[in-house]
Amino acid sequence: MLGLVTAPARKRLLAVDDEPDMLDFLERVFRSEYEVLRAGSGEEALAVLDQSPVDIIVTDQKMPRMTGVQLLERIRDRCPQLVKVLVSGYTDVPDIQRAVEQCHIHQYVVKPVDSERLREAVREATARQASGDWSFSLGKAR
Ligand SMILES: [Mg+2]
Repeated sequence: MLGLVTAPARKRLLAVDDEPDMLDFLERVFRSEYEVLRAGSGEEALAVLDQSPVDIIVTDQKMPRMTGVQLLERIRDRCPQLVKVLVSGYTDVPDIQRAVEQCHIHQYVVKPVDSERLREAVREATARQASGDWSFSLGKAR
């Protein structure tokens, strides 16, 4: 008899976006590799994080009430191991810069996003988190 092959537990990825279509897209992009959880707002994301362990968060920047950066600031101390990826528009670049420095985000993706770029960003962010290296900033060496 063949031995049981147990798949390693998949990492849990929380996708946060105020646009349902974008959440659908993120789920399609990541579901083959991760267990995907969804939140439609920063508040919802905080509630999910309260209830379940999450390994990776991919959050939109522009959301009503709480931006992605504000969300990441709120959880910075609470979830130090979390891999953090921010998805933003080009005009949000000053906010991203601040987030890289203050919230220790591991990677950002500028819209419009494509699925391969997103997967790559999460891989890079995971590697950075593992090595403790978040000291990058918009291509500038530091
Ligand atoms: Mg949005």
